[in-house]
Amino acid sequence: MNREPLIFEVSDKGKRAFRLPKLDVPFRKDLLENCPLRREVEGFPQVSEVEIVRHFTRLSQLNYAVDIGFYPLGSCTMKYNPKVNERAAALPGFAGVHPLAPAEYAQGCLEVIKRTEELLCEIAGMDAFTLQPAAGAHGELVGMMLIRARLTDRGDPRKVVLIPDSAHGTNPSSAHLCGYQVREIKSDGRGRVDVAGLERALTPDVAALMLTNPNTLGVFETEIKKIAALVHDRGAFLYMDGANMNALCGICRPGDMDVDVIHLNLHKTFSTPHGGGGPGAGPVGVKKELAPYLPVPVVVRKEGRLVAEEDRPESIGRVRTFNGNFLVVVKALAYILSLGAEGLREMSEVAVLNANYIRKSLEGIYHLQYPAPTLHECVFSDKLQKPHGVSNLDIAKRLIDYGVHPPTMSFPLIVPGALMIEPTETEPRRELDVFIEAMKAIAREAKESPELLKSAPHAAPVRRLNETAAARNPVLRWTEDMKEPSRT
Ligand SMILES: *Cc1c(COP(=O)(O)O)cnc(C)c1O
Repeated sequence: MNREPLIFEVSDKGKRAFRLPKLDVPFRKDLLENCPLRREVEGFPQVSEVEIVRHFTRLSQLNYAVDIGFYPLGSCTMKYNPKVNERAAALPGFAGVHPLAPAEYAQGCLEVIKRTEELLCEIAGMDAFTLQPAAGAHGELVGMMLIRARLTDRGDPRKVVLIPDSAHGTNPSSAHLCGYQVREIKSDGRGRVDVAGLERALTPDVAALMLTNPNTLGVFETEIKKIAALVHDRGAFLYMDGANMNALCGICRPGDMDVDVIHLNLHKTFSTPHGGGGPGAGPVGVKKELAPYLPVPVVVRKEGRLVAEEDRPESIGRVRTFNGNFLVVVKALAYILSLGAEGLREMSEVAVLNANYIRKSLEGIYHLQYPAPTLHECVFSDKLQKPHGVSNLDIAKRLIDYGVHPPTMSFPLIVPGALMIEPTETEPRRELDVFIEAMKAIAREAKESPELLKSAPHAAPVRRLNETAAARNPVLRWTEDMKEPSRT
């Protein structure tokens, strides 16, 4: 495959995308006096229009996207995003509203916020939601701040947050950022929280248990009610990481499991294209006891109108400008309303079915450290391929040659050489079969020609990149002596 050059490499001095005819009115330079204008930007590429268009069109064709094919990144819920959500978010009343518009001119937008909060309360079984947090990790931090505020009011702020060893890395980071010490608790042989170990770890300085359910192995914590009772008995709170809500919608509700705080990832469970740093939203739901602490503004109904209430003395304050990533909320509302209650349940049922179809089809060909029935995702490992010198990285890179996006690798940490696969409900059976056949072919190759895997990908524009160089040695400015950049 030909390498697409950088736009700088095709630059030629004096080339322009377009030229304007000579001015036929006087040039009023004085009008631009105070504008930060530059005639030339040093080192800026100079190319014709057709070169620009072709360059960026070709680059766009190198992209992989959920609109192109299977995207089984475990934990990320890379589902297809129905275009009707985009249509709703693009309506001028939503897309064009000024963030400082007074409430009386933004009743429709406030209604979207209120309706979404109410629907999320119903779906998750919680008493109140805030839509402000910008992503899941931000929601975790806000959830921890709510717990801290409540415990401080009780006069017993406490110091420690318990987190299972299978947790997403953002969990300990969020707890730490909120000033807590993190204590890890071990999983049992089935990949669930070891309840006896938890009981011992629940000392009087524990503020909360942060639990993901179903956890990152795709395993449901069947003892959740008992866990919640233990946590509450010791005066601590139960935080649930709800990033895996795609397995539960319409089937069971975290609130009914006695969870006190939960974050949801609208950009996972409730669609919205994500990846590449696009905007998301990590709403936080709470039980009554924590509701007074929610961030301001809180949208409330008053005399038939909606107002954004700022004056709430116990609130932890503002955590995001304006009302968060509002258009993500519009998309989630469109998604929820277009599916309806029955559709949401079917969404979760099919997500679980698809994951189990893959698990059963690849069982024995790839190793399953936790063979217990799983929900919406399954975690294989490279244990059976390791004797041939083939790692999960080699398998992931080879999948690119078969035209699919690699799954999540090396997470959760309790599975060495993990390959974590989450197909979501949106994949047709045919796509699942293509993936399964590719994985089987790769397992055969691992035995017969491991070298082929170790040098993969062969059909991609680039081979193996140094995975940390871009972060450790960022090159942010083009210079002439980079004409022949090294590409190892
Ligand atoms: C994705 C994810 C998070 C973090 O959410 P972001 O929106 O990426 O910040 C936290 N926990 C789990 C289990 C996740 O899958």
